[in-house]
Amino acid sequence: MNPLLHAALLTRLAIATPARGLRLKRLAAESCVPVCALFYHRIADSVPNDWTLSRKQFRKHVDYCVKHLEVVDLAEVQRRVRDRDSKDRAVTFTFDDGYRDNFDFAIPLLIERGVPCTYFVTTSHIRDQIAFPHDEQAGRPLAANTVAQLREMSDAGIEIGCHTRHHVDFNKVRDRKTIRAEIIDAKYELEQMIGREVRYFAFPYGLPEQLRQAAIEAVAEAGFLGFCSAYGGYNLVGRDSFHIRRFHGDREFSRLKNWLTLDPRKIKREPDVTYRLPAINSRLGADGEPETGEAAAASFAGLAIGSEIDA
Ligand SMILES: [Zn+2]
Repeated sequence: MNPLLHAALLTRLAIATPARGLRLKRLAAESCVPVCALFYHRIADSVPNDWTLSRKQFRKHVDYCVKHLEVVDLAEVQRRVRDRDSKDRAVTFTFDDGYRDNFDFAIPLLIERGVPCTYFVTTSHIRDQIAFPHDEQAGRPLAANTVAQLREMSDAGIEIGCHTRHHVDFNKVRDRKTIRAEIIDAKYELEQMIGREVRYFAFPYGLPEQLRQAAIEAVAEAGFLGFCSAYGGYNLVGRDSFHIRRFHGDREFSRLKNWLTLDPRKIKREPDVTYRLPAINSRLGADGEPETGEAAAASFAGLAIGSEIDA
């Protein structure tokens, strides 16, 4: 990060901290503390790229979260949001894609520290042991996890989640047959691989343009308990918990800390994602009500946040 930008961020954090502490107290009293979900791709000290954090950086994230927040699993994120029962800052850890390097350090570290984690994988890359196209294009193909590794992680308490068969972009792939194969069939295949139920889905790319109605309907029809996006939102208490918003575990620690201390600007800037859940996922009590990020952000803003020095 640019040193000037870094200094500005640290200054803003220092100025904002008292205001954020007061706001957190108000939110805690209302059981309305937004819940954080982090996503990572790859933790390794070799072949660094834009989606890799070093082991040292990741350990720092884990240390901070264990010390300052409650570390919870995805089901608990959903419960707090759904039951309006969120009295303290909490975070969940997730990984996308299925890079083999994670098996050597990141996952053992999380298991050792008792940090719940959901590990989303793309089934074709696991089954066929092929590198991701974006790594191939960069001239640095990277190994995927094996089925045996997924089973070992699962046995150790890591929740294995589905990230489609072929890492498809649902903004581009829109035919119903492919959507169903990439979501419904992928869930079944992954369950056969690991010998356990696969309960959560994460959208590849995870931006608002990928969160298309037809794909979300397939996620619900498949029987997933929820899906994860990756565009940077918080999980605001009281809104539909089927959609779990995540932001990435930024390699710049001060930026991550800024987000984990609940940056009101991040909430206000959240894109408006609207979808309608079919009333088929009774496990969630989905009621078919439309969901909009804008409405949720407005409701958060209504929690007497007051004038924000960092807004
Ligand atoms: Zn991905």
